[in-house]
Amino acid sequence: MKTPLEKILRITTAQKNALKKLGIITIGDLLFFFPVRYSDISQVKLIRDIAKGEVVTLYGKLGKLQLRRGFKSRIPMTEAILTDMVGNALKIIWFHQPYLAKMFHEGQTVKLTGTVSESKYGLALTNPEIEHAPDLPIDSHSSLFSDSQHMRVGYPIYRETRGITSKWFYHAIEKILTPDILNQIEDPLPSYILEKYHLPVLRTALVWIHKPQKESDAISARKRFSFQEIFLIQLKKQQSRHIYEEHYAHDISIDHALLEEFIHYLPFSLTDGQRNAIDTIVHDLDSDKPMSRLLEGDVGSGKTAIAAAITHTIIINRPRKQSYGNLQVAYMAPTEVLATQLFENFIQYFKNSGIQIALMTGSGCRKYPSKVNSSGWTTISAIQVKKWITNGEIPIVIGTHALIQKSIKFKDLALVIIDEQHRFGTKQRMELVHKHGTTPHYLSMTATPIPRTLALTIYGDLDLSVLDSMPPGRKPVITKIVPPTKRNEIYDAIREELKRGRQLYVICPRIVSPDDAQPMTETEWNFLSPQKQMALRMKSVATETKRLQKEIFPEYRIDSIHSKMSKDAKEKTMKKFSEYKTDILVATSVIEVGVNVPNTTMIIIEGAERYGLAQLHQLRGRVIRSEHQAYCWLFTSSSSPTTADRLKAFMKAKNGFELAELDLALRGTGDLAGIKQWGLSDLGMEAIKNLKMVEAARAEAKHIITNDPRLDNSPELSNIIKHEKFQVHFE
Ligand code: ADP
Ligand code: MG
Repeated sequence: MKTPLEKILRITTAQKNALKKLGIITIGDLLFFFPVRYSDISQVKLIRDIAKGEVVTLYGKLGKLQLRRGFKSRIPMTEAILTDMVGNALKIIWFHQPYLAKMFHEGQTVKLTGTVSESKYGLALTNPEIEHAPDLPIDSHSSLFSDSQHMRVGYPIYRETRGITSKWFYHAIEKILTPDILNQIEDPLPSYILEKYHLPVLRTALVWIHKPQKESDAISARKRFSFQEIFLIQLKKQQSRHIYEEHYAHDISIDHALLEEFIHYLPFSLTDGQRNAIDTIVHDLDSDKPMSRLLEGDVGSGKTAIAAAITHTIIINRPRKQSYGNLQVAYMAPTEVLATQLFENFIQYFKNSGIQIALMTGSGCRKYPSKVNSSGWTTISAIQVKKWITNGEIPIVIGTHALIQKSIKFKDLALVIIDEQHRFGTKQRMELVHKHGTTPHYLSMTATPIPRTLALTIYGDLDLSVLDSMPPGRKPVITKIVPPTKRNEIYDAIREELKRGRQLYVICPRIVSPDDAQPMTETEWNFLSPQKQMALRMKSVATETKRLQKEIFPEYRIDSIHSKMSKDAKEKTMKKFSEYKTDILVATSVIEVGVNVPNTTMIIIEGAERYGLAQLHQLRGRVIRSEHQAYCWLFTSSSSPTTADRLKAFMKAKNGFELAELDLALRGTGDLAGIKQWGLSDLGMEAIKNLKMVEAARAEAKHIITNDPRLDNSPELSNIIKHEKFQVHFE
């Protein structure tokens, strides 16, 4: 049966599939497929005026269109010459887009947008976006510029995919932007909010975003939709928080004297930051509402000790109406390696307390203290641990996802701590919660530095605490920017450290090189930005491992790790490295956050220019855990002044959060570490740059949820936030 969209547009099966890949199935989906930008006639340049590094838009006729393969790389390339209206010519090269040669033909008028690069042919445009531009006057220079008034905004440009051009979208959307359809769509945003923030109503905004008459129309429409996205996310987060808080928490009385005593016996004295965090959390625990708090603190800032002090405060409480036993705490980490590390830290912090701690992971369980050796642990069976969890005998359980198995029932779970929050979805969190009558307090900890606006949005259901001081006495990591000419010098220095028994991380931008890569489809490649495509041609874990082993460090044990390996293989590799059975670990930037191998004092970051500052900071954080001097070398072949400035800022900045804000300001949201995982659209990310907008969206959402937690008075809103995709639904 044909969908309403197919009926209106008469699309082919191939087009239907291509649309589906872009997530477009319904009329609503297509209406919410917004232009990535608008062609602006005033940006059009002549070839004689362009300079290397500039982003330019050029009009002209295509010539010498040909398909060939790179001489050495064998990469398929489409080449052409663009001749502009005054007769100058420019070389155009597209890598990995052989189909372009078929979609366009010689003599055709096109519009190209891209970055000017320098090739062996002189200046060139590499991987520019290309569009047919048949209806634009291009034969006379003056006519192009004189009549530009009514074209100020130009026409919308949509993300293209194989078989579907920007133009196709333009015409398809024109067909569905009819009063008939628009009148059937309910605006989810309450009118008082629209009025208060001067935002256009939905119908107007849809027309303005797709077919703006003036630049200001497009801007208002985009503002409305970015506000809407943040508002809807907030609404959902605020709602789940509200529902969470309708439950009662365990009754916890805080024994300040015993808390002080516990802190006193820690192997160090707490930093002011750690103190403040503990005070804030303890204050939360005093309430009968369950706590929902996120503790953000740089790698190495000492979050585990905070978790331990809080855990202790809770478990010395007796379960309700019981004169024996303890309340329980579950502490979850995203990997076995991390869980095991936390277990070991807790043993150190709870030494001599007589309190039992269990470790539960997929590959086995442990209990501390062991009956035979009161300062060590023993292995026990999962069945045994589960029994002790259920009858309340073990107060502290540390583990991986294994902790949220159906078969595990805590007797008196009073606190859930989650390390590296972003790896656990809200759903998993809720799972832990609802299984156990009374709602446990919830403390989430992360070392992923993100800007405050982003945190307020994606963690909208949590209160934020920031731990911004580091334990004293850390030697700063010696950080250096290394140009290609200095490579060997650094390798020599590394060899000296390896001889002294230290270890090294080598971070590469990608897993495999184009040669050994799974061939990417053209469409996939096409979706990548020119920067990404560049990155893909950079050093890979696979080839760099081979090269280091063969040419640079033949006498050392080298291993590699990356995200495409199975979880099991990854853990094994990490374990070997942490037990010093390998000297060098070559990895992508996704190696487990927070992994602690104190003997690793060196890190090389290849292609450093392509990482966000916050991400560089996190990578460097992996080598600050030791009493030995640590080093971080940023290998870069970029000589651009902006890169130099950014990397210098990195060497100076105090902490990850400062760097995350800098990133946002300097490079824009697209470069924030792992941005995809936050699930925001490009428009949503635009909003993240605007603190006022984020705060307003949050305040409005809070206001609505406080008065109407289940959104009984706003069925439209309620319906939208039930779905994953926060948009208006229209078949
Ligand atoms: P993270 O915040 O990354 O989880 P950890 O809790 O693992 O950091 O702590 C990092 C290291 O710092 C650990 O070896 C821990 O023992 C040590 N540490 C924590 N707090 C302090 C402190 N106040 N003074 C000195 N060392 C500390
Ligand atoms: Mg930690």
